[in-house]
Amino acid sequence: MTKPIPCLLWAVLSTVGSAQVIAIKAGHLIDPETGSVAANQIILVDAGKFTAIGPDVAIPPNAEVIDLAQYYVSPGLVDAHNHLALTYKKDPENNSYYLTTVMDSTAIRAVQAVSNGITMLNSGFTVVRDLGNAANYADTALRVAIEQGWIPGPTMINSGIIIGGMGGQFSPVPERASLVYPEYLDADTPDEIVKAVRRNILYGAKVIKIMVDAKSYGYTVDEMKLFVSEAAKSGLKVAGHVQTHAGAMRAIEAGIWSIEHSIGLDDEAHKLMAQKGIWRVGTETPLTTYYSPNEARFQHQVEGMKNAYANHVKMAFSTDADYYIPGMTRGEIAIDFLRSWKAAGIPAPEILKIMTVNGYKVCDIYDKRGPVKTGLPADLIAVRGNPFEEIDALRDVRFVMKDGMVFKRDGVMTPEKFFHSGPVNGWRIH
Ligand SMILES: [Zn+2]
Repeated sequence: MTKPIPCLLWAVLSTVGSAQVIAIKAGHLIDPETGSVAANQIILVDAGKFTAIGPDVAIPPNAEVIDLAQYYVSPGLVDAHNHLALTYKKDPENNSYYLTTVMDSTAIRAVQAVSNGITMLNSGFTVVRDLGNAANYADTALRVAIEQGWIPGPTMINSGIIIGGMGGQFSPVPERASLVYPEYLDADTPDEIVKAVRRNILYGAKVIKIMVDAKSYGYTVDEMKLFVSEAAKSGLKVAGHVQTHAGAMRAIEAGIWSIEHSIGLDDEAHKLMAQKGIWRVGTETPLTTYYSPNEARFQHQVEGMKNAYANHVKMAFSTDADYYIPGMTRGEIAIDFLRSWKAAGIPAPEILKIMTVNGYKVCDIYDKRGPVKTGLPADLIAVRGNPFEEIDALRDVRFVMKDGMVFKRDGVMTPEKFFHSGPVNGWRIH
């Protein structure tokens, strides 16, 4: 899409009088891509980007020096499947989307998304792939607010409204058919599929999310191919919610970008996914007392993770954390999913690679953001221990930088710079 000309002007203005150069002294700099650790690195940050990294980089005399000599510095983490504008309302029996839809306006969900986003960043997640259930584009509102620098938060790769056959993931009674909206966008014919994809792009989606098989009239291979080709015109990928084996096989044949959830995946599906390079966004919930534990289901999921790993499937750290647990923030819930990866016996360096490099790749931003690399936006985190040896070191993030601004220092949020940083790009949703 052609960008409006004023953006160029904003880009120029935003560099005028740009902030002071920051020099970070990193005791250990971790590279999850290669599994290596470099000691005593100097990282220079100027105008929100990494400008120099190395052991002998000269610190400019006027630079603000940040001492992370005692820490392990890592690229930021990615949750490849979350819903920041959704926190389930509880009824006495279970958590319910319906109650959320009835009781929470788009406006209140956008505000809630701000809070959830801040806590994600506080737990070290600098990127979140946000896959719908955000009422009427509260996810786009959050992304814009973060990009403008009005509030701190992770980089958002948001889907807008989830597209599905009639009813989406809901099963309303006829008198209450409208409960489906705006959580889901109906698309039952080729014309409606094209229209729904364009509508989401128009209103700020950065990825297209579809319900592959939530209903008996799930999407066919040809219908999914149409989603993929229509989204590709605007450079977007298609993520498919899959809950059956048959749905998974159709999605794989259609060449979908990612399969969300692992319910429908088995050895056969994993082998095909590895062959075709399809992402597995498994969202395996840990087995703990506060998640309505089901040991048999958890063990089945863990076996699935092991099988996918053995088959060299491209895997992404993903949580589907869209609920409230007393005493825990959304970020704390998300990082707690480390339990599932440990239970699957996946080595710590691989888990960190999955949480970083794979995350940027499934978000399709790898060349633009994520790695600690000269020329890229300055996002990084720091922890006390070496996560290559003990992945739980990531549970205690002491320092977070996002877009070259310090968000957290010595374990305490210090986000004031963010509120003075906007507008960065001018006001726009694309
Ligand atoms: Zn989800």
